[in-house]
Amino acid sequence: MKPIEEIKPLLESPKKVVVTMHQKPDADAMGSSLAMCHYLRRKGHDVTVISPTNFPDFLKWMPGSDTVLDFESAQEKSIKALEGVELLFCLDFNTMSRTKTMEPYLEKLQCVKVLIDHHLEPQPDFDYGISDTTAASTAQLVYEIIYRLGDEHYIDNDIAQCIYAGTMTDTGSFRFASTSARVHRMVADLLERGLEHELIHQAIYDNFLENRLRFIGHSLLNRMEVYYEANTAIMAIPYSDLKRFDLQTGDTEGLVNFLLSIQGIKLAALIIDRNSEVKLSFRSKGNFDVNTFARKYFEGGGHFHASGGRSTDSLERTVQRFLKAMHENEDILQ
Ligand code: 5GP
Ligand code: MN
Repeated sequence: MKPIEEIKPLLESPKKVVVTMHQKPDADAMGSSLAMCHYLRRKGHDVTVISPTNFPDFLKWMPGSDTVLDFESAQEKSIKALEGVELLFCLDFNTMSRTKTMEPYLEKLQCVKVLIDHHLEPQPDFDYGISDTTAASTAQLVYEIIYRLGDEHYIDNDIAQCIYAGTMTDTGSFRFASTSARVHRMVADLLERGLEHELIHQAIYDNFLENRLRFIGHSLLNRMEVYYEANTAIMAIPYSDLKRFDLQTGDTEGLVNFLLSIQGIKLAALIIDRNSEVKLSFRSKGNFDVNTFARKYFEGGGHFHASGGRSTDSLERTVQRFLKAMHENEDILQ
């Protein structure tokens, strides 16, 4: 993979570009992709953003989100957009399998493929890219790439909002260890460019429907288990809860963080029966590496302190497997 700066000559003349992200995109996947899209459009490229699946309502305020194609519900249009594409940008994921049903279509593209990501252990088959695990967000990388290409004059309010949203959410509102001086300098620059940051916090965090808050209350009261012998807290959500509270994509986002707020807890797991599969979200504190944990036990991955995985077993069986894995790691968790 050649360094990302080397794509500069390719961006000098108009190209047909597709920008894509991981399935069920979060604010960083969507924010970084839309920031990249606005930047490339401003440079004169013909850009389509495709999300492998639908995305949460709380991201629909993002400038340009109304032009994003959902590969699952707009497959024909998306496949058309991929026809004759010259440059493919893959943002905020490290293996093609995270694009779900889009994967075979991306694999067979003959175009130049570019990776921009901050997850551990990226797949090697990209032509250009950056995989920087010290970056707090993929959105931060987009910001830095625009600077490195000498194009910072293109950073307008749309781009600033998208970059801020992705970084705010991936840093837990600027609290995780990844919130470096580099992040604060970037935010200072965005504020000096006129960004109104409180509007973004409101758009993302003060936008719950009543049922989502009631679901959180129900889950904390009835679905949480704490295993003090392994400093672990888990929440197992049956599919019937998702139905009962009429949950939509993104409504379980952030739930796993509540578990880590219990004194002494080092490992938190949110295990959700999504009907087609069971999804697991892991968070940790200190020296427990949930990237390795997710890879080893649940076909997943991510970051040292935040990762995810999946299981095709039942919810009960998945919880049992999780508890077994937790006990195997008790030494490190104590
Ligand atoms: P979340 O728990 O918020 O869904 O994901 C936490 C982190 O783990 C994110 O960086 C996400 O990209 C990564 N992640 C979540 N699920 C998976 C998965 O199934 N496979 C891989 N490789 N990474 C995942
Ligand atoms: Mn990210």
